[in-house]
Amino acid sequence: MTRIDADVIVVGAGLSGLTTAFRLARRGWQVAVVEAAERPGGVIGSRRREGVLYELGPNSGLDTTPLIDELLGAAGIKSERLDASAAAAKRYILRGGALVAMPTSPGAFFGTPLFSWRAKLGLLREPFVAPAPPDAEETVADFVRRRLGTEFLDYAIEPFVAGIYAGDPETLSVPAAFPRLFALEQKYGSLIRGQILGARERRRSAEKAKNMAVSFSFRDGMQTLTDALARALPIECGVRVAAVRREADAFALECERGSAGTKECFERRARAVVLAVPAYAAARIVEPLDAGAARALREIVYPPVAVVASAYRRSDVAHPLDGFGFLAPKKEAPPVLGSLFSSTMFAHRAPEGTVVLTTFVGGRRNPELAQAAEGEIAASAQRALAQYVGAAVPLWSVVTCWPQAIPQYTLGHRERIAAVERTETSAPGLYFCANWRGGVSIGDCIKSGHAMAERVDRELGALASTRATQTNPVATAAPA
Ligand SMILES: Cc1cc2nc3c(=O)[nH]c(=O)nc-3n(C[C@H](O)[C@H](O)[C@H](O)COP(=O)(O)OP(=O)(O)OC[C@H]3O[C@@H](n4cnc5c(N)ncnc54)[C@H](O)[C@@H]3O)c2cc1C
Repeated sequence: MTRIDADVIVVGAGLSGLTTAFRLARRGWQVAVVEAAERPGGVIGSRRREGVLYELGPNSGLDTTPLIDELLGAAGIKSERLDASAAAAKRYILRGGALVAMPTSPGAFFGTPLFSWRAKLGLLREPFVAPAPPDAEETVADFVRRRLGTEFLDYAIEPFVAGIYAGDPETLSVPAAFPRLFALEQKYGSLIRGQILGARERRRSAEKAKNMAVSFSFRDGMQTLTDALARALPIECGVRVAAVRREADAFALECERGSAGTKECFERRARAVVLAVPAYAAARIVEPLDAGAARALREIVYPPVAVVASAYRRSDVAHPLDGFGFLAPKKEAPPVLGSLFSSTMFAHRAPEGTVVLTTFVGGRRNPELAQAAEGEIAASAQRALAQYVGAAVPLWSVVTCWPQAIPQYTLGHRERIAAVERTETSAPGLYFCANWRGGVSIGDCIKSGHAMAERVDRELGALASTRATQTNPVATAAPA
């Protein structure tokens, strides 16, 4: 029999991989994690500078599922959790060059200058718009134009999609990128009706709608979560998996450490492998095993995003910063996707008299802006903040570039996932779990990691007992 290094090897120590590995280890499986970067966490990373806490990637998660609380409890970091302050309830949208608060009640909706009367009254027809055929795959833009009208697309959905996916609603698929929205239309025939009637169902499942869920982080930032999961696991950092091979009773991973002159190649073996890496990385790894799946994975596009953390003297920003932040619709031709008022969102982010704002640049809308020199990216953020919140020159800015930031669930995404599912069927014991499948948010990655661990536990358990029965005549003869 081949030498096995672990029951399960999880490749990639981002939130998806860490959640999967953590839960499998708690189920008693011998788990190992290999990670290409020098630290675990993937796109999650928190840093401090001059007393300011800022994030390299995600700033917060939404508490949409009880699985989050369960995971924080198991990782021993419940007491570190910090919920967004009440002062951050307001969300702004840029319209006509000024920030306008998003309405949060029906009364405020009818009074808001964010949408014209024509657009508001147009909503009355939404319950009577026929649903799309169940097998139709519409873009988010077509879906919203059909049900809610162009103005809602331009000033609500487009900036929202840019905020979540750094994406373009003209290319994203409704059933793949917003499956709940698609299901609401299919089940209730209307989003408005579904929003009302669906609330009862959500209460039963203890899941929360994204617009009702609390935003959370941790006293020391989002990295608290990935650090806590990583501490409980054996992780080899600085190890890049190049390819996966199938052997008689295991999978062999071809691994590399170091760079050009000092490159060391070696192998790791496990009964099961979970590829928790971005789609383009998974494509390279499975290419020798399944060229079809590799092709499908390569079609998943990742636009670049730059994150600019900027510290200001409070007195140098005119806006009250009384909210979560703002989203900047494409229609306004802004140099940024939006900005978070990070020190309003969470307490103790900056010393007294200082504020920190986190601005997002690039995305599908302006990929070239996120690929410019760091100075230029910082200047784009500074220009936007000067214009929209009356900010002077920052004390400092830090730019983090993610050349391939967030996977886009574009038209055809479900077929790409089906190709990957076929690989999982033809190569039992090989699994895929990352933010290109099951949702991109922090909550979605935790849910996917949880579900993946349950599945591997079940299937590996069944495999182990089949083997035991095949090789152990006593087990075969054992009474039930
Ligand atoms: C800038 C930005 C801001 C975001 N903001 C938010 C937010 O505010 N709220 C929210 O809910 N979500 C947010 N998201 C989304 C969310 O953070 C991510 O979807 C999630 O963290 C991804 O986790 P993951 O484990 O699937 O992938 P990743 O974090 O990408 O992890 C994959 C890991 O695989 C490793 N890897 C790659 N190739 C190999 C290889 N060959 N061998 C070994 N290891 C490999 C990588 O180094 C990486 O560590 C944001 C994302 C970005 C990029």
